[in-house]
Amino acid sequence: MPVRLVVLGPPGAGKGTQAERFARDRGVPRISTGDILREAVQAGTPLGRAAKAVMDTGRLVGDDVMNGIVRERLTKPDVTPGFVLDGFPRTVAQAQALDEMIDERSLVIVQIEVPEDVLVERLSSRRICGSCGWIAAPGVTACARCGGALIQRPDDRPDVVRERLRVFTRDTQPLIEYYRHRSTFRSVDGDQSESAVAADIAAAVAAVLGGTR
Ligand code: AMP
Repeated sequence: MPVRLVVLGPPGAGKGTQAERFARDRGVPRISTGDILREAVQAGTPLGRAAKAVMDTGRLVGDDVMNGIVRERLTKPDVTPGFVLDGFPRTVAQAQALDEMIDERSLVIVQIEVPEDVLVERLSSRRICGSCGWIAAPGVTACARCGGALIQRPDDRPDVVRERLRVFTRDTQPLIEYYRHRSTFRSVDGDQSESAVAADIAAAVAAVLGGTR
C-alpha cells in the first residue's frame, strides 16, 4: 500500500528534518513546497520572482499557485510508492484541493507539536546549506550532503519568524480542525530528540495503516 504522509506543524517544528528522514527510510519522495519555491527563487523564474517577495515577509504564497505546483508534482511517476508532503497544505483551501487530488482515506496526517518558545529558539539558530537546502544539525559548520556553506534562511530572521508564527496560527492552525476528526490523523510530541520524534511518527503511520486507533 502506498504511504502518503502529510506532515503538519508550525515553522521550526522539525517538519523538514522528519519528512526527509521518513522519505529516505521508506524510499519515497519528500515534496517540500518551500524547497520548490526556493529552487524557483534561485533559478530566477517568474514564479521565483513573485514568490520571493512574499516569502521574505513570512506570508503565504497564493493557494492557486501552490495547488497548481502540488497537482503537477503529484503527476510524476516517482510518487507511485507514496510521498511525504512537507509544508503543504498550509490553508484549509489547500487541504480541500489536496482531497480532490488524492483519495482522502489514503492520506495519513501527522501533526508535530512544539511549544512556541522552543520554535523561536530553533528558528533563530537554524542554518541550512546555501547550495542544496540541507538542514544542518546544531553545531554543524558545513553541509554534510554537498559540502556547501551554511547560511541563515532570509525568513529565519527574528522579525520574519514572528510573522511566520502569526500566519501559522491564523491560516494553518485551522487545518488541525479540518483534519482532527479523521481516523487517519495523529499528533506527536516534537519537543524530543530527532530520533524519538521519528520513532513516534513511524508508530503513528503504522497505527493508521494497520487500522488501529
Ligand atoms: P517552508 O520551507 O515550508 O517553511 O516555506 C517557506 C515559505 O514558502 C513560507 O513561509 C511561505 O512563504 C512559502 N510556502 C511554502 N509552502 C507554502 C504553501 N503550502 N502555501 C503558501 N506558501 C508556502
